[in-house]
Amino acid sequence: MNSELQKFIDTIPAVADAALLKETFWLNPKLLPQKEQNITLLHPEQIKDAKDRLERFATYLQEVFPELKETRGIIESELREIPEMKKFLNTDYLSDIQGRLMLKMDSHLPISGSVKARGGIYEVLKHAEDLALDAGLLKKTDHYRILADPKFLDFFGKYTVQVGSTGNLGMSIGIMSAKLGFRVIVHMSADAKQWKKDLLRSRGVEVIEYADDYCAAVEQGRKNSDANPMSYFVDDENSRNLFLGYSVAGERLKAQLEQQNIPVDDEHPLFIYIPCGIGGAPGGVTYGLKQIYGDHVHCFFTEPVHACCMLLGMATGLQDQVSVKDFGIDGRTDADGLAVGRPSAFVGKVVEPMLSGIATIEDNKLYDLMRGLLASENIFIEPSSCASFAALIRSAELKRYVEKMGLSDKMKHATHIAWATGGSMVPEETRTAYLNMGLS
Ligand SMILES: *Cc1c(COP(=O)(O)O)cnc(C)c1O
Repeated sequence: MNSELQKFIDTIPAVADAALLKETFWLNPKLLPQKEQNITLLHPEQIKDAKDRLERFATYLQEVFPELKETRGIIESELREIPEMKKFLNTDYLSDIQGRLMLKMDSHLPISGSVKARGGIYEVLKHAEDLALDAGLLKKTDHYRILADPKFLDFFGKYTVQVGSTGNLGMSIGIMSAKLGFRVIVHMSADAKQWKKDLLRSRGVEVIEYADDYCAAVEQGRKNSDANPMSYFVDDENSRNLFLGYSVAGERLKAQLEQQNIPVDDEHPLFIYIPCGIGGAPGGVTYGLKQIYGDHVHCFFTEPVHACCMLLGMATGLQDQVSVKDFGIDGRTDADGLAVGRPSAFVGKVVEPMLSGIATIEDNKLYDLMRGLLASENIFIEPSSCASFAALIRSAELKRYVEKMGLSDKMKHATHIAWATGGSMVPEETRTAYLNMGLS
């Protein structure tokens, strides 16, 4: 290891733990009160623009995806209290969860069964709208259900959409692009599960497989796409559009909390825990929530021990200039949705003043937590998703944060939300294999 990186190991305990493949919990020393945060890379108005766009598309989405009839074309998931899981964590994991524990079930989002149904689908819709508006085939005041007309399939069929993915992003981009009529190519890394490749191929998506990791799949995808002027590349490492698609979750969650009469204010803090890969999904959701709740919401990312790229990028301040491999970490994890070795610099910069901390978790615990959630609440989510409990099971460090923020006497009235990021589309036999993992 070079001496530059050794310096971080010597001075930042969480980085030292991470390099030793030990679970850890890093608290962000650069967290600032909201009024001192100065975010220049994005503007909150852009969230409203994204929300409006999704509303314009609602009539189309409802037309082409029957499962969206009930919500009139809005892609949203349930927010459910999980009191039995709280008991399970407080006893089996010696957690000290006070207040309410809830699950945001993006694991069950319609269309693609993961959090990527927010950002991924949004970005494809945005691209389709741009093309159709430019060509004079669509006006923003039209009823977008006209996009289901075969003439649009022919129009979009002239264009290609490409993306590099560990699986779930490819599912969202692939399913949505194919539905609109785009030619679509998904570049899948070695971590991607076979069933995801099979499902995409069955929907007419071209899947190219790589023996290498996620970054390599993205690189090839980008190259392929750049060589074709009719091709659009969904850039998970830098995309503002993906990020904004995720950020709409903030307002949606606010409406759900209000509907369930759950206050968020000075006396009722909100704690959010979201699994992190490259950072777009947890970053976008965090950005959206911070615009609404400011200092009353506390956002934590969670990562596998073997793919703790955001922790290393943020704790060292090197962002995308550092990868887990630089610290001798192999990047191999069963949490395929989080198997990313280098974080997004864009996301790192945006969340730097607003992120509370990052906790890491070992793969074997993901399976135990998966079984625990199924047994206690009868909810199945995939291993990556279970990382959302990583901070809650490290009660000593979480307590340190609570004390530092002066929240100790308010935790009885706190709401904790573990963000379940994927799982409902996992096929039965894969599910069974997961549930038996690590049992002797
Ligand atoms: C992609 C993904 C995440 C994290 O999203 P990033 O944008 O990569 O940080 C979390 N959980 C699941 C299941 C995912 O597929």
